[in-house]
Amino acid sequence: MPPVTARKQIRLRGIVQGIGFRPFVYRLARRYQLHGHVRNTAEGLLMEVEGAPHTIEQFLQGVANEHPPFAQIEETVVTELEPTGETGFAVRQSLDEKAQFALVSPDLATCEDCRRDFANPQNRRYAYPFTNCTNCGPRYTIIYDVPYDRAVTTMAAFRMCPACQAEYDDPDNRRFHAQPNACPVCGPTVTLPPVAARSLLAAGRILAIKGLGGFQLACDAENDAAVRQLRERKRRSDKPFALMASGVAAIEQFCVVSAADRQALESPQRPIVILPRRPNARIAAAVAPDNPTLGVMLPYTPLHHLLLSGADGLPLHALVMTSGNLSEEPIVIRNDEARERLAAVADGFLCHNRDIYMRVDDSVVRTFEGRPRVLRRARGFAPYPIDLGNSMTEVLACGGELKNTFCLTKGRYALLSQHIGDLENYETLEFFRETLEQMKKLFRVEPRVVVHDLHPNYLSTRYALDLDGLPKIGVQHHHAHIGACMAENHLREKVIGVGFDGTGYGTDGQIWGGEFLIADLAGFERRAHFRYVPLAGGDQAIREPWRVALSYLMDTFGPQHSSPDVPLWNTIPVKRLQMVQTMIRRGVNTVQTSSCGRLFDAVAALLGLRLEVNFEGQAAIQLETVAHPGRDDHYAFEMEMSDPWQVDMRPAIREIVADVERRTPAGAVSARFHNTIAAVIVEVCQRLRISERLNRVCLSGGTFQNVYLLTRAVAGLRRHGFEVFVHSEVPPNDGGLSLGQAVIGNCLFHVA
Ligand code: ZN
Ligand code: ZN
Ligand code: FE
Repeated sequence: MPPVTARKQIRLRGIVQGIGFRPFVYRLARRYQLHGHVRNTAEGLLMEVEGAPHTIEQFLQGVANEHPPFAQIEETVVTELEPTGETGFAVRQSLDEKAQFALVSPDLATCEDCRRDFANPQNRRYAYPFTNCTNCGPRYTIIYDVPYDRAVTTMAAFRMCPACQAEYDDPDNRRFHAQPNACPVCGPTVTLPPVAARSLLAAGRILAIKGLGGFQLACDAENDAAVRQLRERKRRSDKPFALMASGVAAIEQFCVVSAADRQALESPQRPIVILPRRPNARIAAAVAPDNPTLGVMLPYTPLHHLLLSGADGLPLHALVMTSGNLSEEPIVIRNDEARERLAAVADGFLCHNRDIYMRVDDSVVRTFEGRPRVLRRARGFAPYPIDLGNSMTEVLACGGELKNTFCLTKGRYALLSQHIGDLENYETLEFFRETLEQMKKLFRVEPRVVVHDLHPNYLSTRYALDLDGLPKIGVQHHHAHIGACMAENHLREKVIGVGFDGTGYGTDGQIWGGEFLIADLAGFERRAHFRYVPLAGGDQAIREPWRVALSYLMDTFGPQHSSPDVPLWNTIPVKRLQMVQTMIRRGVNTVQTSSCGRLFDAVAALLGLRLEVNFEGQAAIQLETVAHPGRDDHYAFEMEMSDPWQVDMRPAIREIVADVERRTPAGAVSARFHNTIAAVIVEVCQRLRISERLNRVCLSGGTFQNVYLLTRAVAGLRRHGFEVFVHSEVPPNDGGLSLGQAVIGNCLFHVA
């Protein structure tokens, strides 16, 4: 005879804290009249339920199928227990198990229910900028330890008023155990009411606003003078500013929004989405100079909503909303820090007294083939883990230099840091160090191995090599790119890896960047690359693309050749031109490079689009921008079947120069050039398929942020029967390097 009552213990692992899971369990248990309790543990959620066996089954199905929208259950372990006769259902205090590990929820954009609360004049949270509930609000940015409880967040400083406490204690309330729960009576306060901030913004002022993961600098995006002033004061030359608008309808006034874009915009991550700009858009030109796209996001905190929609009738359609920092420094998080560092940038401050613990920038995505592709992984995504499929040794991978992230592994997860930035100054290195310490503590990681890039001068490499007492593993830059693409696509077997980017240190001491590798996580063979050209003056050659163009010209037409017949080139002083020519001829202060990014720079310079750049990739972006759609022809190229094979672009350069001399429109040349690179990819992959019998191709590296190229490369490869893998969860640029380093380092550590 079956027992009348049963008791089961259920352990859940995954993202199950800070998103309303315990109240959900409570309601579910009551629905099925089960007794028992639920509590957070440091590794997830633990519950015990007692009642009729068939209702326990229904309860378990409910847990699996009806859980809160942002929960991610990674593992469920059910154990049979002896019934204890416990009555009622309790939500218990958290258990502190120091050695355990729990996933932490990223910050979540304000939910619709909360939005209704602060929009309603009858509600006690009317116009309250810190409204949140178990479905939304700050998480990662305010948590400094697990299990997730108010006491280990920066909300610990605020004592809940009786009304908030009652919500917090009521299992039927949306704010039951909402750790950052707050109201105007007891919660954080702002130093400037949002209505006042709106009128300042409408009057053309620049405000420093304390947001979720750091300060933001805001001004009216339609006010040319204000935007230009922000650019000058921030000392940011040409990099585009992000925008924020109240809703998708508002964004559609100035950008084209596809269904996939809309979904990305409205997702709880609320990233900046790169969108095609409408030609007649009223957005100030200085927001994104020479750029046919705009990066736009929707409000993700109540404060943002209040700033963007007021009943005051002010004509604020879109705000510039850019990181609160000076040029390339980390985003500012503390009030005193902001008042000191941003004093010369902002006309006014909107601060508040809820501390930010984790510094987290806004994320950036672009949709491709209907899916969002992360270009900068930060707020809303970090610290959401990448599931590696099997357990790994705990490693620290220090990442690259530009767009740095680092990666820790724990169990089967890769925990990627938020975007740290370009590791080129002391402040950013401090941000790297501080975040690493915070994440190691939060996720209980004690790395046993340190993985780094081969470039001896990257600050991330130097940091790794200075760590005492841990084995070090160096991973080649493009191998790491391919490793990252393999990891997020769960590939283990050998692949053809196409690693195209601006700069990566090669095993021969030269600068690689147009690489075809046969790779798996245990190693790689460099099977083909673009023919080397000299890079005259190192970093100077990155800032001045005409130098690389000159290298290509001299390589193609002989060492006596100088500038092309392009008007803009007359602006280069003859003396400098001759000096660089001599450097190239004699090989003085030059390195050899196979960089695809530099090849794009060279073609942009040959077309006279841009001879100098203010940030890496600027010339290449402009070249993509002008490319005429709807062309399929390409230039000629040759392959030298040496070991490794060399892709010889001299025939293409010859034709490009002829096109330029006959005044062919830049858009046609650019399209043909892009098509040529796609054709090179298909050609080399086809040859490698014959010799290696491999059919899977991974495309990675910063060059594949170029959607024109990516679209054609993917289509060309698929047409020839290849299975193509690209990035979506981590950036194709150097922001994804640390993931590749981590999985390759892990593999090498176990081989060694
Ligand atoms: Zn909410
Ligand atoms: Zn309150
Ligand atoms: Fe790279």
